Amino acid sequence: MAVSIPFRRELEFEYGHVDELSPNIRRVIANNPSPFTLYGTGTYILGRGSVAVVDPGPADAAHIEAILKATEGEQISHVLVTHTHADHSPGCRLLREHVDAPTYGFGPHGSGMLEEGVATEESADRDFDPDVKVRHGDIVEGDGWSVECVYTPGHTSNHICYQLREERALFTGDHVMGWSTSIVSPPDGDMQRYIESLRLLLDRDDARYWPTHGPAITETHRHVEAFIEHRREREVQILDCIRRGIHRIAEMVPQIYLEIPEFMYGAAGRSVLAHVVYLVQRDELVCAGELGMDVDYHLRT
Ligand SMILES: [Zn+2]
Repeated sequence: MAVSIPFRRELEFEYGHVDELSPNIRRVIANNPSPFTLYGTGTYILGRGSVAVVDPGPADAAHIEAILKATEGEQISHVLVTHTHADHSPGCRLLREHVDAPTYGFGPHGSGMLEEGVATEESADRDFDPDVKVRHGDIVEGDGWSVECVYTPGHTSNHICYQLREERALFTGDHVMGWSTSIVSPPDGDMQRYIESLRLLLDRDDARYWPTHGPAITETHRHVEAFIEHRREREVQILDCIRRGIHRIAEMVPQIYLEIPEFMYGAAGRSVLAHVVYLVQRDELVCAGELGMDVDYHLRT
């Protein structure tokens, strides 16, 4: 029996309009909907008067205008970035033209794998380099608010979540979303680290998750546990494919992903690759050549 993930996607909002979500949290959603971003990038504004912006989003002038309008008469003192995908960090560059606030993040794209950062995938923002590099457990203090940095590699090697301590509200970026599972695409995406980063959240007492895409998650641990179980099921499906004589990732995808349109098979294949890499790391699978999409995978006998 497949695990049931309590997905949620309903959200009432208007592009360019700021929504009050709690005493200390507001959100503006960028008009960049897609099968990967749902309605678009949700940029959060933390605090009042002197505020932090979390993920300015894509390089979209209209969205930056909307953020500026939402914070009119206030000062943006910090810009926090969860990770360097094209729908999260490029807006920093545009925002910088109007606002003199330092950016915070784990490091440039790929920096969770290699010190200097490495170019790994198409949708990466390779220009972003935070003014302040933050690490797990760091506290960033603003005027009337503070956030704890929670390093969560897996979706990308530099993915980091931020907890607004006053509300125990965790901004989960693309690590945990209500409407969808996360894409984990090697080599920068790493399934082992992703699952470890999910388990890390089970040791925390965050009251609510605010993902970049889609609505908030209130049943935090139940949601994370379902994601972990879902990944375990994927492994079982992959091993089952191989037992049935299906050795290539491209042939596994239609067997495993029965409900996705064909144009998403490429992304699904990357996710299967991530699982396969993890199974090879644990010595459960072997591959006939270099790890990748175009080799045969066999059970370790
Ligand atoms: Zn992302």
